[in-house]
Amino acid sequence: MEVFTGLEVSPRKVDYLKFLLKKEETVRTTDISSELKVDPSTTTKTLADLASQGYVDHVPYRGVRLTERGKEYAQFLIHRHNILSLLLTHYGLSAEESCHEVSRFEAYVSRDAVEKICASMGHPAVSACGKIPHGSCRIGDIA
Ligand SMILES: [Zn+2]
Ligand SMILES: [Zn+2]
Repeated sequence: MEVFTGLEVSPRKVDYLKFLLKKEETVRTTDISSELKVDPSTTTKTLADLASQGYVDHVPYRGVRLTERGKEYAQFLIHRHNILSLLLTHYGLSAEESCHEVSRFEAYVSRDAVEKICASMGHPAVSACGKIPHGSCRIGDIA
């Protein structure tokens, strides 16, 4: 896992990377536009940015796919989302509310903070949002 702070990618791009990870394959630009409800020219521009940051590769005539780096980063994004969501459910929010709230601010929470929270919770395995991957965790014992 390479060095990153977790703050490299804007909220909008977080959505792109998570969508691409979920699809696990080459995805057409038009499918991304319709899934994320953004116009095709914006999608094209955003994907070009993500490609220049090394997170996605263009596959001629077929669309885009995550690079290895993009996959690692997207795993971290899932980790961050699910840990923060779990945290909020411990403080009175329903699973749905937590997921929704976290989606609004997750892009601004650093990897360091996420890992400290994760370690203090004992690296939990699941949250209401799904399994919690710990590949990016650098502190504490992972069960
Ligand atoms: Zn969620
Ligand atoms: Zn962890």
